Amino acid sequence: MLTVTFSGAARTVTGSLYLLEYTDKDGSKFTFSVDAGLFQVGQKVNLFKINSRLIFDPKKLDAIVLTHAHLDHCGRIPYLVKEGFGGRIYSTEATKDIAEVVMLDASKHIGEGEMADLTTNTGEISVESKDNSKNLFEAQRLYTSLDVETTMTRFQTHEYHQKFRIHPNIQVEFFDAGHILGSCTVLITEVSSGRQVVFSGDLGNPGKPIIQDPEMISKTDRLTHIFTETTYGNRVHPEHSPKERLKETINNTIKSKGKVLIPSFSVERAQEVIYLIVELMREGQIKNIPIYLDSPMASKVLTIALNYPELYDKELQAKIKSQTNPLRYKHLQVMDSVAESKTINQFKGSCIIIAGSGMMTGGRILKHLQFYLDHPENTVIVVGYQAEGTLGRQIVDGVPEVEVEGKMIAVKAKLEIINEFSAHADSKMLKKWIGQMVSEKPDVDQYPVTVFLTHGEKNASTEFGKELEHSLGKKVTTHWPRFGEKVTMWPK
Ligand SMILES: [Zn+2]
Repeated sequence: MLTVTFSGAARTVTGSLYLLEYTDKDGSKFTFSVDAGLFQVGQKVNLFKINSRLIFDPKKLDAIVLTHAHLDHCGRIPYLVKEGFGGRIYSTEATKDIAEVVMLDASKHIGEGEMADLTTNTGEISVESKDNSKNLFEAQRLYTSLDVETTMTRFQTHEYHQKFRIHPNIQVEFFDAGHILGSCTVLITEVSSGRQVVFSGDLGNPGKPIIQDPEMISKTDRLTHIFTETTYGNRVHPEHSPKERLKETINNTIKSKGKVLIPSFSVERAQEVIYLIVELMREGQIKNIPIYLDSPMASKVLTIALNYPELYDKELQAKIKSQTNPLRYKHLQVMDSVAESKTINQFKGSCIIIAGSGMMTGGRILKHLQFYLDHPENTVIVVGYQAEGTLGRQIVDGVPEVEVEGKMIAVKAKLEIINEFSAHADSKMLKKWIGQMVSEKPDVDQYPVTVFLTHGEKNASTEFGKELEHSLGKKVTTHWPRFGEKVTMWPK
């Protein structure tokens, strides 16, 4: 028997956690979760409170299968360890490396009494270092760096397509999700019966630079259930790449002798932006000007990305062979220390500054905004979602004057919003990914596949459900689960 309890990302985007309880034929029990992410939703919500409340006992959890290293998928793992989880954590190696950076950063910021300013409704967020955040006492934190250290000893890593068992009768296989480096979709098989369930994790948007496109899962002839994210379940992404817009905007700013500020999320987005800008420079489409990567967390993730060339897509592999890796470039300067960061503001000419946090709620971007936001020759390029209540949202909404670290600054710099960046599959891609698996099942007309619609806002999930039923007919039934709901997937 296999049951699932929806313990996160149900009727919302963040906090991904599926609690699975398996009972073998001999009556023995095995409890595991797919992901254990942090809740980040809502304005002025106490992150400590919403994340420390668990609807199960972590001591009874035997294993965690982790799809990828975004905070809303891995951010509660150290808390479970702190509360007595003693089992293994299964992931790819790149996920393990990035998760360490992400969880360590979170350990510094999420504590009792601290109000959430880390909000999202796209699932594309990761916590950025908040240089100005107050230091929380260790005891008040959701977890500390020591809990993260213990967490890291529990990882066991596997490559894509390498089948492994987390229990004598439960086999797991990872497929490339094409979402961020190391991300996977997960196929779980009961060895004795062949029954299967699939978890999408976060499914990527095909055609993104650096990483591979999302992979289709094959050999799913005994599939019973699919858990799919629906972040953009009611949207179709534009076909064009953000590269052209970046080129135009940067060239115009260079012409007016200004500086380009790019507030960016540390995991994936910052690296993608660097990739495209360096490519434009190498192709001679924009002038060689300094690119400052001024986010210690983004630079750590960049270093990790450089360690996994085997995970790159064909284009990047070819570039490495011809010695033109856009992730390594002489004009790209990584500013790790605060002292290095300060030197950026002494530079007189045009330059590009990529700094966290992505929604301008903290981090080094705040210092640069104080220097450059009130000058019309400069440009702020927004490359990610700006949640309500954030400084980024105020700027996007056209507020003429904003408060940055207690100072009122006039918004005179130009603003460019580039919406073409997305790390999530749109409805077309989700349908293709699900349709392929469903069509492989020979007895699907007799035994339809149940699709759980999770990790999405109401409209995105429910509209996607309708569209999926419309296109696949009786081959699927969809379900939009509530938080805390328990469903039996495989009866005895
Ligand atoms: Zn993600």
